[in-house]
Amino acid sequence: MKIRIGTAGSPTGSNMTGIAAVEEAGLHAMEVQFGRGIQMGNGLAEKIGEERKRHSVALSVHAPYYVNLLSEKAEASRKRIIDSCDRARRMGASPVVFHPGYYGKLSKERAYEEAKRQIAIILEHIKGWGVEIAPENTGKDSQFGTIEEVLGLAKELKTSFCIDIAHFRAKHRGKENLDELFAVLPKKHIHFQYSGVEWNSGGEKRHMLIDKAHFTAFARHILERKIDCTIICESPETFEDAQKMKKIFEDLGWEFGAKASVKAN
Ligand SMILES: [Zn+2]
Repeated sequence: MKIRIGTAGSPTGSNMTGIAAVEEAGLHAMEVQFGRGIQMGNGLAEKIGEERKRHSVALSVHAPYYVNLLSEKAEASRKRIIDSCDRARRMGASPVVFHPGYYGKLSKERAYEEAKRQIAIILEHIKGWGVEIAPENTGKDSQFGTIEEVLGLAKELKTSFCIDIAHFRAKHRGKENLDELFAVLPKKHIHFQYSGVEWNSGGEKRHMLIDKAHFTAFARHILERKIDCTIICESPETFEDAQKMKKIFEDLGWEFGAKASVKAN
């Protein structure tokens, strides 16, 4: 069992120098953020890949937020995910996490079938790249991506998946049941995102700093069930809160070891 804790984005503002900073702080993972678009060229992605090999830090990628596989613009959305995968393979990063899209006028069943069809096209395109893609559960009622939908797609298409605990909380307006969630998760390495969260009548409003009591309860579930996982901190203070998350695990008796061994993805 291995637990990796990491930041959403680089603590230094540069992916190149962020890897060493993450390692220096005793953390084990960094999620490269393409949320507002992919500004990274292939050359830089390859340099970051070289830098990654010098450190024990696992890289993953968050694809742009402007993705809606369930709209007429599906092709442009697929391209954003495929381009994210292309940079990811050059960096040695995996998985590439993405929000699938919005139901719009589609029924839940039609939306699921369409998401499946779109993701299958992406998988065909990135075959052999060595990069996994991970649809993420979402926090707003208008967004496709319940836990069931995401796990269903992952199972049918043999993809990875991402479980965002803040989104799960927002979707259930704080009345979420972690026991029920953990009961349906497959026994494999799980890519989590975690932060505090605020919600309104439509679900998720924004990510917040972590709440120590809530994270402690979450960490207990991981330890009791011996879940091999990566947990990316998506709070507004990702670097500080990721270190707090690590400390909470240590206070619960978990030893991360001097250097978490990171298998090249
Ligand atoms: Zn996300």
